[in-house]
Amino acid sequence: MQIKTDTHIHTVTSVHARPTVEECAAAAKKAGLEAIAITDHCSHKMSQFDESVNAILAQEIPPVINGVHMMRGAEIDLVDYKGRLSFYNVPYDSEKTALDRLCESCDIIIASPHFPAEDREGSYEERTNMFLGAVADKRVTTIGHPERTWGDYDMTALAIAAAQNHTFIELNATSLLRDYRDIIKEQLLLCKSFCCPIIVNSDAHDARVIGSFGEVYTLLSEIEFPVSLVANADYNKLKKELQIQKELKGR
Ligand SMILES: [Zn+2]
Ligand SMILES: [Zn+2]
Repeated sequence: MQIKTDTHIHTVTSVHARPTVEECAAAAKKAGLEAIAITDHCSHKMSQFDESVNAILAQEIPPVINGVHMMRGAEIDLVDYKGRLSFYNVPYDSEKTALDRLCESCDIIIASPHFPAEDREGSYEERTNMFLGAVADKRVTTIGHPERTWGDYDMTALAIAAAQNHTFIELNATSLLRDYRDIIKEQLLLCKSFCCPIIVNSDAHDARVIGSFGEVYTLLSEIEFPVSLVANADYNKLKKELQIQKELKGR
């Protein structure tokens, strides 16, 4: 198996990342990818409103660059134990919240744990409920690197709920290189048991990392993970999986 898309990539819009959109497309081409998603941070902690919501909305991302399909996206912080996301309560105009406005412009919405929700650790049950809330959010396509949560949670409940909603659980290649292998493996085995779709991403902050999934292949083959559950194996499959998700979630 060679995974042909990468749907978690940061650019200069994320401030702490380097590449431009064009550099990402060039790196994706070089890595043999068919499609990528630009998913800069949307975070009330890492940046102000203008630097996240408005900066992402203002990004110029052509649909195709040099043969590589370009998708729009954002990686948004989980902010409370109901699984709500940054800017969910900030009005954008008289009809929409900032989060609604951002999500409607995106193909990929990654809900990620970055800072303890509500500025506290929460309980095992609360952290589990945070993920269940995010999984059920019709706008959320992907749960980003759940292994980086500030405490443990019910991984079985997450896999079951994600399978029911067809929400993708991310296999984050950057996390895999950072000592999270055991917890990632445990989550993957649960995804395999409950037929939960996963999505393999680089989480690149540097263009050279785009599409580099070496360790991912080793782990997936070690646990005999079914290719059919890899939502982003290629661009056509990704589009189909997103369509299934859209219908199930009523987006
Ligand atoms: Zn992240
Ligand atoms: Zn990221």
